Amino acid sequence: MVGGVAGGASCAARLRRLDEAAEIVIFDRGPYVAFANCGLPYYVGDIIADEQALLIASPALFRDRFNIMVYTSTEVTAIDRPGHTITVRDLETGQSRVERYDALVLSPGAAPIQPDVPGVDLPGVFAVRSIPDSRRIREWITGHHATRALVVGGGFIGLEMVENLRHRGLAVTVLEKLSQVMPPLDPEMAVPVAQHLSEQGVQLHLGDGLARIDEAPQGGLRVVAESGTPFLADLVILAMGVRPETGLAAAAGLRLGARGGIEVDAQMRTSDPRIWAVGDAVEVTDVVIGQETILPLAGPANRQGRIAAESIAGRATQFRGVQGTAVVGVLGLTVASTGASEKGLRRAGVTNFETAYLHPGHHAGYYPGARPIHLKLLFSVPEGRILGAQAVGAEGVDKRIDVIATALQFGGTVHDLAEAELCYAPQFGAAKDPVNVVGMLAANVLAGDTALADWRSLASTDALLLDVREPGEFVSGHIPGAVNIPLPQLRRRYAELPQEREIWIYCGVGQRAYFATRFMAMHGYRTRNLSGGYETYKSFAALCGRGGPIDPMPLARTGGQVEPH
Ligand SMILES: Cc1cc2nc3c(=O)[nH]c(=O)nc-3n(C[C@H](O)[C@H](O)[C@H](O)COP(=O)(O)OP(=O)(O)OC[C@H]3O[C@@H](n4cnc5c(N)ncnc54)[C@H](O)[C@@H]3O)c2cc1C
Repeated sequence: MVGGVAGGASCAARLRRLDEAAEIVIFDRGPYVAFANCGLPYYVGDIIADEQALLIASPALFRDRFNIMVYTSTEVTAIDRPGHTITVRDLETGQSRVERYDALVLSPGAAPIQPDVPGVDLPGVFAVRSIPDSRRIREWITGHHATRALVVGGGFIGLEMVENLRHRGLAVTVLEKLSQVMPPLDPEMAVPVAQHLSEQGVQLHLGDGLARIDEAPQGGLRVVAESGTPFLADLVILAMGVRPETGLAAAAGLRLGARGGIEVDAQMRTSDPRIWAVGDAVEVTDVVIGQETILPLAGPANRQGRIAAESIAGRATQFRGVQGTAVVGVLGLTVASTGASEKGLRRAGVTNFETAYLHPGHHAGYYPGARPIHLKLLFSVPEGRILGAQAVGAEGVDKRIDVIATALQFGGTVHDLAEAELCYAPQFGAAKDPVNVVGMLAANVLAGDTALADWRSLASTDALLLDVREPGEFVSGHIPGAVNIPLPQLRRRYAELPQEREIWIYCGVGQRAYFATRFMAMHGYRTRNLSGGYETYKSFAALCGRGGPIDPMPLARTGGQVEPH
């Protein structure tokens, strides 16, 4: 195994369980194997105070429990494919030697992207990949009495670092090139995340890249954005994404894919039948979109390691591909997603899908403490197949996304979500769980019971906007041009509305508008429910205000097709 962390360590341990006779050897150029990369930000934040807690298995454990030899601080520098050997260099002695293999597994991971701008190698500028990286950040914070940090990149690792630096009491600024945080989310779903970060005192500087880092004359670092905006910081964290480590594979002539990762088949075998590759370094199939992708996450790396071991042991187990299920905690907020995003679908040319927004409480409203979940579901039309979901909220987010992820994995439809039998007691959920309700909403759309309108289409519609919330809600904020007839008055007043014009109805989160659209439809009106209600509108409005990437064109409903699983 080249690399002994997520993919390599799982592969080695699984292989031992399948083959007692094999001689299994792990090489890792770092000082540790099987450590918890995912715990590193929390070690920086002192939530994990003991570094030893990050060490899941030691070389001694591998040797004693599994009869697996581990060589740390040992880099594999070359592969001789015809000779079935590798060259390894002991990084402590500088000595190189050659080792023979029957099967070779590459799990070298991915390296943090280092931007090509001046100053990224200055003291006080860090990336977070290893235990020594995190240790250096901790020591820097303490040793330099750091009070200000700048994090470049607002993705998973960037935001985890933000949370932990805030936990250490530092003032944190995020510099993000995109106009949203959390790039895997659709922009409107990232709005509540950005708002929460701001409320927690994090300075967000979105839509601007890193231009340079200098030593500040008064001490510390001076970071300059592409716009010229300067920031002073005591330390800078580079969290701009990762790049697959393919140098060794490429030098050995193994085929790389179009996305730059090592090409593998469903058994994780590379273009050389004696070499397997797993984890962050490989390209895998996105099962929703049907295209190759790179997904640097620990779950897939572990499962791929196991599959490579099974393949080496002669079993025909296949990796099913990925759907990108992920979660991150951000200062008390949970952000999770699975499957395709709307922007991902559009990028892939898929247009036969529909979007449903919902803002339910995480448990029954009558039980104290219900917190809202902002939920977005993408499903194919007309089949209703689940394509993806995103959720943001303080509680209950991971559970909903995990349920939808499982349904997606089994090729489920929105009807399956509507019918899902989930656990319920007041403090945990609702008799109609948010997963059920979003499924029912989508099923209503497919059945033609309700038509949805998308907020992006507001700019280009001549439909009448009807707000069915109570007058107090209307006064405290409404869409310009909307007419207010509260739902309880609609039966008596609907004739005031023009029958020849389409009417787009909204309320707070979509439920009252749904009742209204059904009522109006049964009186011969053409109606649509503005998806997600005023709550979703506020996110879109915030994006427009920020000059965000709002597509003013109505969504096309025909065109490219999503392939079935
Ligand atoms: C800070 C941080 C937080 C994360 N949080 C999460 C999370 O919450 N959830 C999640 O799903 N994922 C998370 N990840 C991602 C997850 O850790 C990776 O997807 C996973 O570890 C990839 O496994 P891997 O085996 O491909 O590579 P790694 O686990 O990175 O292991 C690769 C190893 O190979 C070694 N190596 C590379 N080249 C050579 C060579 N030539 N010779 C010898 N050794 C070599 C490296 O030193 C490294 O130790 C996080 C990653 C980081 C950095």
